[in-house]
Parts: sequence; structure tokens; C-alpha cells
Amino acid sequence: MAVQNYQLTMPTKDPDDVYPKVPGINYDDFKLSPERMPEEQRRRALRQLYEYETVQKDNFMGYQSNQKLDFKDDLSIYLNYHINNIGDPFVSGNDTLNTKFVERAVLDYFAALWNAKWPHEYSPDSADKDWRNSYWGYIVSMGCTEGNIYGLWNARDYLSGKFILEDPYAEEQARLASMDGRPAAVEPRLLYYQAKAPENESNKYTPIAFYSQDTHYSIIKAMRVLSITTFNEEGSGKFDCPLTYPDDYPPDYSLYYLDENGWPLEVPSDNSGCIYIPALKKLVEAFAKQGYPIIVNFNYGTTFKGAFDNVAFAVRELVPILQQYGLYEREVEYDPEHKKSDTRTGYWFHVDGALGAAYMPFLEMAEKSEDFPVFDFRIKELQSIAMSGHKWIGAPWPCGIYMTKVKYQLLPLDNPIYIGAPDSTFAGSRNGFSPLILWDYFSRYSYQDLINKALYTEKMARYALDRLKELEKQVGKDLWVEYSPRSLALRFKQPNASIIFKYSLSREVLYVNNERRGYSHIYLMESVTPKLVNDLVTDLKAPDAFPDQPGIQLNQGEVIVPDAKRGVFIPQSGRGFR
Ligand SMILES: *Cc1c(COP(=O)(O)O)cnc(C)c1O
Repeated sequence: MAVQNYQLTMPTKDPDDVYPKVPGINYDDFKLSPERMPEEQRRRALRQLYEYETVQKDNFMGYQSNQKLDFKDDLSIYLNYHINNIGDPFVSGNDTLNTKFVERAVLDYFAALWNAKWPHEYSPDSADKDWRNSYWGYIVSMGCTEGNIYGLWNARDYLSGKFILEDPYAEEQARLASMDGRPAAVEPRLLYYQAKAPENESNKYTPIAFYSQDTHYSIIKAMRVLSITTFNEEGSGKFDCPLTYPDDYPPDYSLYYLDENGWPLEVPSDNSGCIYIPALKKLVEAFAKQGYPIIVNFNYGTTFKGAFDNVAFAVRELVPILQQYGLYEREVEYDPEHKKSDTRTGYWFHVDGALGAAYMPFLEMAEKSEDFPVFDFRIKELQSIAMSGHKWIGAPWPCGIYMTKVKYQLLPLDNPIYIGAPDSTFAGSRNGFSPLILWDYFSRYSYQDLINKALYTEKMARYALDRLKELEKQVGKDLWVEYSPRSLALRFKQPNASIIFKYSLSREVLYVNNERRGYSHIYLMESVTPKLVNDLVTDLKAPDAFPDQPGIQLNQGEVIVPDAKRGVFIPQSGRGFR
């Protein structure tokens, strides 16, 4: 390599020796340098890239991302456009190279599908306040993780008594500042305010989070990013756990999930992966009784088991508790002197619908059954829903939707000058291509088409279940094949490394009857064909397909800081982590 006299570091080792090996990829062909890459090498690298991604795509069935994509013809031209939807989707803004009009069409589509009031409206001048019940949302640049973090951020600020108010001194300060000679802007200035908890209600603005043990790690990440306190952090060691073992726990719940004070780290879920509602109720009540506002995250399609919390039923069970302890509706005072306050809920229900929010509405249309687990804005207490766009729908990159109602947004109070919140989204620059992906998809399919797709994936899940059960019989071994109701995920004994690589399978370790078991799962997304399932079953017939799983000793972690405050549980595998 002819390196001229540039300032740059040299590698301390050959990266090729340090980094993971990738089958079919010669890393030397991919190394970038200060020189233009010779065209021949570039072509070689691009060929390897294409081979690799295409083979992996064709065999992909380990995660919940649909690989059946068809966007190239309509949209590939926009790879040469930088489209940026910076700011609120309902405010045009001056960055006109955007697709906000397309984004609004997609959001309206989901508002209708999720039974929200639409179109989005912001009309502070109108006498009728019904616009406050309309939806607000945006297409996120990350996946459902961003929707989850955004929802919990909104929840935290709303419940902890934050306000956006106009600074009454802005004008006077501008006038004084201008006396130093430099012209000062006299736009009204907005500031964040924090309501103060009354002395006899010290917990009033400390929201406490509840989520099940099957919850995706993005929710746990949000707890840390946002410093939201979980029920375990607040209660364990300070007062008695409201749950008694084993009566208040789901069947087969292991005592070993409890911490040293007899508290669960997360809300228990049953064996199919659904949040265990009787335990949730007792836990929520213990905190509601002490005046804490409540955040509950529900899962609509858990990551590993693909289970659906029955959100409507859970909310129905929780509402009387919230009413009893003054949390269903409460006054949040921001100016006690002038008796100025805002009426807010003392709870926030968020639905992590990464997978399920995209297709379960269609399955519900097909099933028309009474006991279908409803998750959407038909539940009038629901505050927010997040969904991934690249999972059930399928998209070339992570994307998704966040949706709430205008009345739950933290907006400037009493000030009609501001049209919507000027900086209402999480990111600065926002992906303006993703709305095109979602629009392109939903413009091509009717509800009936989407119902058919949902039924196809359900049918494939049952097909794969039958084939794996058959395989169990043929090989005469228990392969731990399991399936949760309506799930597109099937879990079974972890196969060998080459099968895991070939089909991009995930891994999870579970204790079952005191036995440490390694599982894998497949997700029967639209791109998975019967042939692909058959190929997998054929590979699983090989004598070395299922290696023994010798009981591995878990490290007994050394306690380094014995009196440090314990934080949230951090998943290191499973839950979609690897
Ligand atoms: C995948 C997933 C997420 C995170 O979504 P990303 O799109 O990967 O950010 C959150 N929750 C659940 C239940 C998921 O399955």
C-alpha cells in the first residue's frame, strides 16, 4: 500500500486475524485505504457481498423479519435523493425535500387500523376540544426501539409533572439584553417546568415501571436511558412483596426468579410468555396505594415466544385500582399560587407491538373471535403504541411507527402560537425514505390481501409445527418443540453451529425443571416457504444435528460492591439479543 505522508494510524494487528471470519468473505478485499480501491478488487468484493447476502436471505428464518421485499422498481431511484423529514410530520418546515405528505398518509392508515381518531388535528383556537383526542405519531428512524424509548420518555415526563410553559420574563430579558447593544430576539421563550410534589404526597411525581420477564431489551434500555424506576428497584428491601409464593405466581414459576428479598425482578409471565395479570394487579396496587403513578409496558408479540398480552383485559382489571387510589385522573399543579393545573392520568399504558401491531389487526378481521387479545385505541385508556416496519411488513432497513394521542403529548400549555411542538420527535434528521417503503407496500395491498398474508403465516407456523413433531417421532427423541397460541415462532432444541448459521437461528437458554436447556427458534414470516421448512427438517435429521448440551456452570458472579444499589435486570441473551 503506497501511503503518502498523511497523518493516520497503522493497524497494530491484521484486522483479518482479529475479527470474526465470515464464510465466503475475503476480508482483504474489503479493506479500505487512503487509495482508491482498484476496480477489479471492488467488483470482487461486491460479488462476494451479493453472494453472501443472497444465500443468507434465501435461508433466513431465525428472526421476525420478512425477507420478501419488492421495492426496487418503484423506489430504487430515490437512493440518489437525500430526503429528510426532520421535525414534526404535521408541520411542513423549511426543509422541503421531504416526504411528510407520504408519512401523513401512512400514519392515517395506521390510525384507522388501530382505531384511533384521525386525521391528526391541532386546533387550540377551536371551542370544541375534541381535536385533543385525535392521534399524533411519526415514522421512526430506528426500529421499534425508538418508538419504545419515545413512548416511555413521554410517559415519564407526563407522569412526573413536567410542563412546557412560556417564560413570562422573556420579553423583559430581551429588552434588557438589547441595551448592551446587540439586538435581541423577542420570540416567546419556552421552558421546561417541573411540578413539585406536595409534602404529604411525596411519591406523586415518581413514576414506577412494570413490564414482564418476556420483555424485549429495548424497554430495559429505555429504563436506563431515561432513569425510570422499576417496581423492583423501588420496593425490594423496602417493603414486603405483595406477591406470595407460590399462590400469586403463574403455574411452574420458579422460586429462583425471586431476589433475596422475595421480590421478582420483573412482572412474572406464564409459560406461553404472556404477562401474568393477577400478579400485575397486585404489584400495581401495592404502588398505587402509596401514590406512585404507574407505567405499564405490554408486549404484543414477545420477541422469543411471540406471545400476545391481552392488553384490553389487563387494562380493564387495572382501571378500578387506579380509580380507587386517585390515579385514574388527577390534577397536576404547575402554579400552586395561582391555582393553575393540568388534568392528567396517573398511569401510562404503552404497547410494544414491534411484530404484532402490524398484522394482528388482520388476523382479528379473519378470526372474528370474541376472545381475541385487543391491543389498540379501542382501549380508551391506552396512551401509546410502537411497531417495527421491517418485521412483519418487511423493509430494507429498520423503521417503525410511534403513535399516541394529542392530549398526551407534552405541548406548550395555553399557547396557540405554537403549531404543534416544533421539536416533537426523538431524532434530529429523520429518515424520509422509510415512509415511501411503507406507503409503497400499503398502496399495493387491500385489507383482504393482508388478511390472506396473515393467514398464510399462521398456516406456515402450523405446518412447521407438524413437521417438527413428525421429526421428533422419526428420530425418537424429545426435541422440546413448543409453540405459543397465535405465535409465528416455534422453539426447539438448539441444533449444531452450521445449521444455526445456515438459517440464521437465534439462541436462548431456559431452565426447565431444573435443567439448563439451549433453545433455538424459527419465525414463520411471509418469506418462509414450505420448501425452506422442509430443508431445515432434512438438515435436522442428520445424526449430528443436535449436539449434547452438557450442563454448563454459570459463573457465580463475584460481588464487587456489596452495598451498591441494584439496578434493572440486563438480558445478555435471548429476547432477540443474539
Ligand atoms: C424487535 C423487537 C423490538 C425492537 O425493535 P427494533 O425494530 O429491533 O428496534 C422491541 N420489542 C419487541 C417485542 C421486539 O420483538
